[in-house]
Amino acid sequence: MKILLIEDDLDLGNGVRIALTDQGFEVIWVRRNEDALHQIDACEPELILLDLGLPDGDGMSLMAFLRQQHKGLPVIILTARGTLQDRLCGLNAGADDYLVKPFILAELLARVKALARRSYGFENEAIEIRGLSLHLPTRRVTIGARNVDLTASEYALLEILLLRTDRVLTRRFLEERVFGSKENMSNALDVHMGNLRRKIGDGYVRTVRGVGYVIDTVPIHKGEG
Ligand code: CA
Repeated sequence: MKILLIEDDLDLGNGVRIALTDQGFEVIWVRRNEDALHQIDACEPELILLDLGLPDGDGMSLMAFLRQQHKGLPVIILTARGTLQDRLCGLNAGADDYLVKPFILAELLARVKALARRSYGFENEAIEIRGLSLHLPTRRVTIGARNVDLTASEYALLEILLLRTDRVLTRRFLEERVFGSKENMSNALDVHMGNLRRKIGDGYVRTVRGVGYVIDTVPIHKGEG
């Protein structure tokens, strides 16, 4: 997948470029609006990482151009402008995601991957995290070579978590998605989550106490879960 990185900070740009290249992405890195415009036509990137403070203009004008001319092209804004108003402004202008500097590269990678999955259809794709693989079209779940036999509810929980890795999903969100709950289903969630974890083993679903659950793409040293 081809990513256009628009960032004038040399250290940050280089760090991001190396991190993405390591993950198998093809990265085209430019430092100016004008070069970005040229590369958008010349290289047809599939995802854009956009810094807003550029030497030859504001990235927001480029954002506006992208939304007029390249509606479906996913954009993540990378910027030091972190107030709520800035974020809303960026998202309202059509950015798909917004990351405030300084950020850690692991988070950027996770968001790029999540956006890539959302944007490019995952019909033929298996999602894989540390040997656990879920093949969306066939709903087949494996760990290494081993087939994991899940009930419909267990599968639904796993699929929801895997499609939103690195985001903590609340109990309520999971209950509504999986059980369409009108009443208090918290016991059902506990039961199905317990069964799912028993079948896939420890180390995938992390409990965030009092909030919900998350599957981390980069394992977190855990004191719980
Ligand atoms: Ca900048």
